[in-house]
Amino acid sequence: MVEYLPRSAWNARPPNGGPGNLTVSRVEGAVIHWPGTGSTSVIHSKAAVASALRGWQDYHMDTRGWSDIAYQVAVDQAGRAWTLRGLRTQSGANGDTDVNERYGAVLLILVTGEQPSAAMKATTRGVIADFRRIYPRGTAIRPHSAVRPEPTDCPGDPARAAIARGEFTPGHSEDDDMTPAQMQELKNFIEARTQAYALWTHRQLRKDLSAVVKAYALDIKNYERQTDAADAARAAAAVWATAPRSLQVDGTPAVDEPAAPDPNADPDLSLPDLDPFPDTPAEEAPASNGDQPTA
Ligand SMILES: [Zn+2]
Repeated sequence: MVEYLPRSAWNARPPNGGPGNLTVSRVEGAVIHWPGTGSTSVIHSKAAVASALRGWQDYHMDTRGWSDIAYQVAVDQAGRAWTLRGLRTQSGANGDTDVNERYGAVLLILVTGEQPSAAMKATTRGVIADFRRIYPRGTAIRPHSAVRPEPTDCPGDPARAAIARGEFTPGHSEDDDMTPAQMQELKNFIEARTQAYALWTHRQLRKDLSAVVKAYALDIKNYERQTDAADAARAAAAVWATAPRSLQVDGTPAVDEPAAPDPNADPDLSLPDLDPFPDTPAEEAPASNGDQPTA
């Protein structure tokens, strides 16, 4: 039994009269539809599907003059099933009264070129199984194009191919149809992987943490080294300032005398901008004479 989102999930308007319930003995099967938006713009999120359903309901009721949105149930790509008219109420989707009485109508929320997802196929199989519980003789699964008196492309090539491959047929074997033993095996596998991952994460975090601590210790060491250099430069400047004038150029002190330290200010730790080779002339680029070294 599939869990169906109620009509309130898409803010449905109440139906306007309607054809009533299907006659169980007349029902031959379910017809698969798509919205036929003519667009490749996907409708995937819950909010997007809800809003699209409401829009189609408005179109069917206000423009086409029908009692309600035409389909019985919708299934989206996330595998959500949505109650539209519901499986017991006759649809208005299949083309005329005769085919509406003989078939149910399931809407797949697919756009042009879009493949039905595994989740959509699995839920649709569940919907068809529910349909067959209500209509035991209604076992056929048809694309709309196979029953509509007038031609239609509905429900599109990918869904038509999936119907032909039996992928909407209950009991169709796919990965999500597992025996209880397979299910237990998968559960054990996932648990083992989860534990292994937790252990790996723990080890990885410890490794990262020790790297951070090492980098921090290195930063502290570098900072101390720079502070020592600044102290040494300040001491050298102080010594130079007290040197005899004969050592100074043009009678001007080469280095400003350091100001008396302000007890309220932090010491200036910036390194003096020293030129290590003040008398070395800048290297001149050799004049180009056009000669090129031969190889
Ligand atoms: Zn259709």
